Amino acid sequence: MKKDCIFCQIVAGESPAKMVYETEEFLVFTDIHPKAPVHVLIVPRKHIVSVNELEKDDLAMMGRAYQVAQEVVQKLGIRDGYQLHINVGEKAGQLVDHLHIHVWGGWKVKQAG
Ligand code: AMP
Ligand code: ZN
Repeated sequence: MKKDCIFCQIVAGESPAKMVYETEEFLVFTDIHPKAPVHVLIVPRKHIVSVNELEKDDLAMMGRAYQVAQEVVQKLGIRDGYQLHINVGEKAGQLVDHLHIHVWGGWKVKQAG
């Protein structure tokens, strides 16, 4: 837990979030500034800054993030079309320095681009 990390604070129950799904290793909650009709974040409970800081022991856990994604898109009814996205570093637009996977979906028609 990193005290000044907003996602660690959510993990610790010190900051509110609209929880969608939880496992021993991950939280999934809605993004406060949605960029798609459905926008949730898959967040490991463990504080890892970004993909660059993943250690060998974290890799199996990250594999399980995709299992979480499968469960979540099923639950949210967006299994037929969604995007998974990870920003790494400020240049790429990473604002929160706690690894997270964006899940975007819920469009009525095929997403252009
Ligand atoms: P990124 O730009 O990849 O670091 O994404 C960070 C995301 O976290 C942004 O889409 C923010 O809208 C979202 N965010 C920041 N603070 C919170 C919060 N307290 N609860 C939910 N989402 C948040
Ligand atoms: Zn954190």
